[in-house]
Amino acid sequence: MPTYVRTDKCDGCKGQDKTACMYICPHDLMKLDKDGSETGHAMRAFNQEPEQCWECYSCVKICPQQAIEARHYADVVPLGGMVQPLRGSDSIMWTIKFRNGTLKRFKFPIRTTPEGSIDPYGGKPTAKLADITAIGFFTGSADGGITKGYRPGNPAELIRK
Ligand code: SF4
Ligand code: SF4
Repeated sequence: MPTYVRTDKCDGCKGQDKTACMYICPHDLMKLDKDGSETGHAMRAFNQEPEQCWECYSCVKICPQQAIEARHYADVVPLGGMVQPLRGSDSIMWTIKFRNGTLKRFKFPIRTTPEGSIDPYGGKPTAKLADITAIGFFTGSADGGITKGYRPGNPAELIRK
């Protein structure tokens, strides 16, 4: 269910070095074809490895031109159909296009707190970065992890050295 870019809608994020879809893709799949040498469409983005797509929809949601769509599995959305979200600050509108051209839209709230108001570290203690290199820090064992099975790696035990 990979994404694809509609070249009639994409504007290459107005020629910025890193487009919105390139910025957001966790798998680094989106690429801007600056001179059109790769796709025949200059200044349009494309999914360079569709089979590697995680189907996370991040690029679909962030694209300011709504230029990215996802092809769903044929048994869910038969060929010719399309699903596309339109993100708002408090809701998301899903447009479903059926193969016969029928359009349906569904709107859902997407958050319970106002956009930009979340404090992810609120109420949590400040991190002590000096502790991060201490042996056993991640295993939480008071004796350096020995009783919980942790010990530092021994290069001599590696199969490939
Ligand atoms: S985010 Fe949208 S408009 Fe920007 S380059 Fe990607 S597909 Fe094109
Ligand atoms: S759906 Fe996710 S993994 Fe696939 S191209 Fe878009 S951002 Fe990348």
